[in-house]
Amino acid sequence: MKCKRCREKAEVALRAHNAAFCRPCYLGYFRRQVERAIEGARMFTKDERLLLAVSGGKDSLALWDVLAELGYDVTGFYLAQGIGEYSALSRTKVEAFAATRGFRLEIGDLEQEGPGLAVPDVARLTRRPSCSACGTLKRYSFDRAAHAGGFDVLVTGHNLDDEAARLLGNVLRWQTDHLARQRPVLEPTHPKFVRKVKPLYLLSEYETAVYAFMRGIDYVVDECPNSVGATQLVYKEALNRLEAESPGTKQSFVREFVRRVQPALAEPAIAEHTDPNACVRCGMPAWGELCGFCRLVDEVTTKRARRTSAAPAA
Ligand code: SF4
Ligand SMILES: [Zn+2]
Ligand SMILES: [Zn+2]
Repeated sequence: MKCKRCREKAEVALRAHNAAFCRPCYLGYFRRQVERAIEGARMFTKDERLLLAVSGGKDSLALWDVLAELGYDVTGFYLAQGIGEYSALSRTKVEAFAATRGFRLEIGDLEQEGPGLAVPDVARLTRRPSCSACGTLKRYSFDRAAHAGGFDVLVTGHNLDDEAARLLGNVLRWQTDHLARQRPVLEPTHPKFVRKVKPLYLLSEYETAVYAFMRGIDYVVDECPNSVGATQLVYKEALNRLEAESPGTKQSFVREFVRRVQPALAEPAIAEHTDPNACVRCGMPAWGELCGFCRLVDEVTTKRARRTSAAPAA
């Protein structure tokens, strides 16, 4: 098998693109794909300051590497979620990655927030599924860090597989309001939100893993323990079966949705959409008096106080 570009021996084959590349040409191909996504969807420019949410997984670290290579002004933001070994390991990997490359890194720690907001504790106390508690805490923490640091854009490492699985889930339930907002660039709807973008939305998990491997990026291979059994994984498996039968399915599913369907769904949604107001406590965007994060903090504080007062004296 020969490289499509230079005819040297190829190291990786991409069935979806009917192409094979040697290592240097693959790295160039990957960077160009990211650049094309950024420019094609007008995600950001080199004059803007980017905050990249990094988890320690291959996608966010590969994206950090590419954005820095391409000369963007990017700072990483890692949120420690308090999920046992997984969080400890991912933090170590992120810190080592940033330190060896001299990249700027900010760290948030949920255990140190308010009444102590480690995901497993919040989930147990509020009887929410872990991923629901985690989602609220992550979204808020990223939005707040981007606003507080004066960043222009919040970047995430969602890849093609993530986006295709999310799209399939939204289509299967015809969640038109979610579909109307599923796009690679989301403009802010509140002065304390910044633009949100996903430069890897057309690059598969496999392509990112190959890039990370070729660049010698040391990432957390294990997924978060709470992802086991998540519906999202079932959708990913189904999509992988379709992809194996018909390479390119995931790409066209997501790309054509964004190009042809999403704009049509967004029109009426914009008309009906109400922008958030400000949380009376923290000032961040909220749809009621308090934002979701402050409501969660209240619930954790109350439930923890009840438990403490109910506990027998030692
Ligand atoms: S799998 Fe769930 S708990 Fe784990 S990081 Fe993702 S959203 Fe959070
Ligand atoms: Zn080549
Ligand atoms: Zn609030």
